[in-house]
Amino acid sequence: MNKVYAVGIGPGGREFFTEEAMEALRRADVIAGYTVYVDLVRDLFPDKEMFTTPMKQEIERCRWAIETAKAGRSVAMVCSGDAGVYGMAGLLYELAEQYGDVDVEVVSGVTAAISGAAVLGAPIGHDFCVISLSDLLTPWELIETRLRCAAEGDFAVCLYNPKSKKRSDYLEKAVQILMEHKPADTVCGWVKNIGRQGQEYRIVSLADLPAEPIDMFTTVFIGSESTRMIDGHMVTPRGYEKRSSFHKDQDEK
Ligand code: SAH
Repeated sequence: MNKVYAVGIGPGGREFFTEEAMEALRRADVIAGYTVYVDLVRDLFPDKEMFTTPMKQEIERCRWAIETAKAGRSVAMVCSGDAGVYGMAGLLYELAEQYGDVDVEVVSGVTAAISGAAVLGAPIGHDFCVISLSDLLTPWELIETRLRCAAEGDFAVCLYNPKSKKRSDYLEKAVQILMEHKPADTVCGWVKNIGRQGQEYRIVSLADLPAEPIDMFTTVFIGSESTRMIDGHMVTPRGYEKRSSFHKDQDEK
């Protein structure tokens, strides 16, 4: 059956591509995607046909990919990070179901939560969740509920799409909700342009987050109750240290 690969290419440079992603790009007859991401792979495959669309044309882009596959040419749809995390993978499956005769294969990539975490240290070393602050496809009330539940459950939280020009106060609103259950001095961090030129990061308190220079190219990390700074890094311990002292206490009893 004709194939569309949904390929996550990681946060930025070539060093983040998996071998599997490279192989899918090699195999595809056409590489498609948002202009910025296609440009990242263009020089690796100079002879390959490329199809680019501007941002916010996801449905047209995916429809084109499915129709092209149906007509007999395989397509690799490139997405930043992972194609299944706020990417095109789900939409490709939905459209393929409508068209029939097209097989979608997802090739995993390094999502911003994982690559950004490595820049900060180990902020998601225990239970964590990912919440997008974009209300383009999700009602804001539901985003608020998810923030509240995450804070109440003491999850470490990664925020995607934390801010844009149109949504300049969303991060501030999110921080207010998180502070209903999380202390103002919770250890937090942000990473901008992960794996790209101009990568920047900082570790700050939850109360100080809204004043930081955070934009739509930034991923924000909010600690759990056990998150702390270790030698300039943001670390959420799994609890090994606590467990060994717990056993020591037990042995000494
Ligand atoms: N599929 C992507 C996520 C797309 S949603 C992935 O798996 O990473 C877009 C959001 O992802 C951005 O607003 C930002 O919060 C985050 N993001 C993606 N790439 C990033 C990068 N290189 N640096 C920092 N944040 C990034």
